[in-house]
Amino acid sequence: MADEFPFEISPMYEGERVRKDGMFVELGGPKSMGLELVRAADMDAIEDDQVTIVGPDIKEMEEGKTYPWAMVFNIAGELVEADLESVVERRVHDFVNYCQGIMHLNQRYDVWMRISKDTAGKMSSLKDFGQAVMMLFKTELPFIEKMQATFYTDEAAVKAQMDNAMEVFKVRDARTKDLHDEDVDVFYGCTLCQAFAPTSVCVVTPDRVALCGAINWFDGRAAAKVDPEGPQFELEKGEVIDELSGEYAGVNAIAKKLSGGEFDRIKIHSFFEFPHTSCGCFEVVGFYIPEVDGIGWINREFQGDAPNGLTFSTMAGQTGGGKQVVGFLGVGVNYFYSPKFIQSDGGWNRVVWLPASFKEKIAEAIPADIIDKIATEAEAPDVNALKAFLQEKNHPVVANWAEEEAEEDEEEEEEGEAETAVAVSPMMMPAGGFQMPAMPMMSGGTGGGIKLTIKNAKITIGKMIVSETKAKK
Ligand code: SF4
Repeated sequence: MADEFPFEISPMYEGERVRKDGMFVELGGPKSMGLELVRAADMDAIEDDQVTIVGPDIKEMEEGKTYPWAMVFNIAGELVEADLESVVERRVHDFVNYCQGIMHLNQRYDVWMRISKDTAGKMSSLKDFGQAVMMLFKTELPFIEKMQATFYTDEAAVKAQMDNAMEVFKVRDARTKDLHDEDVDVFYGCTLCQAFAPTSVCVVTPDRVALCGAINWFDGRAAAKVDPEGPQFELEKGEVIDELSGEYAGVNAIAKKLSGGEFDRIKIHSFFEFPHTSCGCFEVVGFYIPEVDGIGWINREFQGDAPNGLTFSTMAGQTGGGKQVVGFLGVGVNYFYSPKFIQSDGGWNRVVWLPASFKEKIAEAIPADIIDKIATEAEAPDVNALKAFLQEKNHPVVANWAEEEAEEDEEEEEEGEAETAVAVSPMMMPAGGFQMPAMPMMSGGTGGGIKLTIKNAKITIGKMIVSETKAKK
């Protein structure tokens, strides 16, 4: 794309992975700190195209090592305003990934990058990379007239930048606190993630931040104003179909259009029925736990297992791709602060499990009467321990168990049919059905059939027909 850079630059490198054995260095990521931040500035405060490095540059780095990493970009232009910072920042992911041999994951305060051996060998300084990214920004977003970058790799400097960035994110996220879905006529849509999740339909409302956590209603508005042909656009709410679950005619229409007909209903504040699609950038995944009829949430930073035995990345694989997956939901961290947080499915009264560090992080968002009733990995590493904990704390979901069991008993009596019970604890199902995680539940048999292993399940069968298919001669 551009001859003056030592590596190729093209959107075709967007899906490129830099694996551990091909990597020169890792920047940020789970073993260190990684952040990106865009700040608007005055025109005369910016040295256009300048890149400053604070800490070791690429030639001073040791192969195979992980370094702390902060990227701070300052932008200026006649149309540039503070409300645009988030949407510009969200494009860092795209433009860094356009650079051959440079991989970028996540956003905001959990950025994770890798530079390949090949690309590192071609660069004389990280300045080459900074200038390439700024060239892309100014080409794709012409309202940016001047831009400069500062890259930090020194640990103390990155820590200071992280502290500062967390304050900036906090202020940005607080802007929607006093504005609600019912106060506005328009929401905002975003199609950026359709590049890898073609049926994903992202709807940003005052009460629901984007699932990547990077774009709120004000950011959507600023982006649509400055770049009407860009990926963020205005979306007429239309008729209110159901306020509690957040169903709007305008959102349904755009869902049908943008998903290519795959979905025609989205309920913005629902977990189970026509949930919002999940592309893959979500900061947190919600997962239904049928044994307790509750919802657990696991954040990207948490490395351990949830009580269902699955990690964030396993559930993210199940949830992402732009699908509407009943039983799983990807959200942004700030959605936990929304007064409409999964309100059509019980809100906080349905939340039963959170990783301890995440629970501490969002403690302010959790209602005082429920906070001590939500388990973490310390009290509930598995489903049986979770069930015991919820019972001991008299969590609101416990009341549903008695109802469910009474209903089941009634059904059993009425039907009076044979039943095979292999359960240690009953499994409850949401009305909208539930998609089980893709776990290794089936394995090939030796006689050409399959062996089906079902754990912790209670099966009620009304009628079952087993017939043999005769082989054609
Ligand atoms: S998650 Fe949604 S709002 Fe965020 S970049 Fe992707 S499409 Fe846009």
